[in-house]
Amino acid sequence: MFELDKLIAEHNLTQQEMHTLIERLDDGMRKTLYGAAGELRDGIYGRRVFMRGLIEFSNYCKNDCLYCGIRRSNQGAHRYRLSPEAILEQCSVGHEMGFRTFVLQSGEDEWWTDDRTVALIRTIRTAFPDSAITLSIGEKSRETYQKYYDAGADRYLLRHETADDCHYNRLHPSDMRLADRMQALTDLHEIGFQVGAGFMVGSPFQTTENLVLDLLFLKKFNPHMVGIGPFLPHSETPFAHEPAGTVERTLDMVAITRLLLPEVLLPATTALGTLDSEGREYALNAGANVVMPNLSPQENRKDYAIYDNKISTGEEAAESRAALEARLKRAGYIPEYGRGDHTTWQERNYFA
Ligand code: SAH
Repeated sequence: MFELDKLIAEHNLTQQEMHTLIERLDDGMRKTLYGAAGELRDGIYGRRVFMRGLIEFSNYCKNDCLYCGIRRSNQGAHRYRLSPEAILEQCSVGHEMGFRTFVLQSGEDEWWTDDRTVALIRTIRTAFPDSAITLSIGEKSRETYQKYYDAGADRYLLRHETADDCHYNRLHPSDMRLADRMQALTDLHEIGFQVGAGFMVGSPFQTTENLVLDLLFLKKFNPHMVGIGPFLPHSETPFAHEPAGTVERTLDMVAITRLLLPEVLLPATTALGTLDSEGREYALNAGANVVMPNLSPQENRKDYAIYDNKISTGEEAAESRAALEARLKRAGYIPEYGRGDHTTWQERNYFA
């Protein structure tokens, strides 16, 4: 138990200690690990779970990530793109429901030039000055990120996917490089965004050593948010027949991440909710504190299919938030609709 005690007390482990810990985890250790992560979260954020409205506004993508169902080569994907007006309408619907964070996610869609994206951010910023704007639209230049920030975007989600160069190259085509992704994350951080990194658990070829590198990278980079979900296969990708990641390993990573980064905003991901109907409750009980109900127009949800069987209705849907709230309360949590910034966030004057 030595490594686990050290992780809990010091929020730190060496590479070797991390490796030994992950390989040795058993039911008893997991109970201790998840419990400690939940308590640490409780001490900082209490039992509040931050609610974010997720708008998947385009599934066009110029990239060809081998794991992703909306990759460029998937000819079978039915492509859609919301107009700026339609996106604003979904924000209005969400704002009315109480959401004060809008997460705008898409593939890397070239229709969305800098000018169009900046105009959209400005419009949302002006219409909803009390709300946080989170972008999740991929790798861009530092200049572009700066424009987004200046237009009023607050946060940016860009998972690093894996911190191991060789592993990264097996998950992505040769025109994508881990170094570029890392540069993008550094640029976002330096510009002043609240930044989200993260990775998939159980992605093809992943080893324990890869997971150790992911965790050590997170500790060093110190992001404000971390997205961790199981890899789930999509039938129209090269990884169609690869096994999915497991609930258990995903929860291990969620809990260790909480212990390494006590103040991090950590979602109970949709992928985990897809793999197991209680997945999100398990994640909350292992230290997570964010959920992102789907606020995309209902007719488009099935088309944002990054993996098979992605949940988007029922308690996953923003319009069914009463059911989700009841579930959260039953599990002992308090739904929180405020902006829910990271503890280190300093308020900015958008209109200065
Ligand atoms: N284009 C944006 C958004 C990508 S989708 C970007 O590049 O950031 C958001 C996340 O979904 C990805 O970062 C990836 O970690 C995850 N994802 C994609 N395909 C997946 C799959 N098959 N299983 C599980 N997660 C997947």
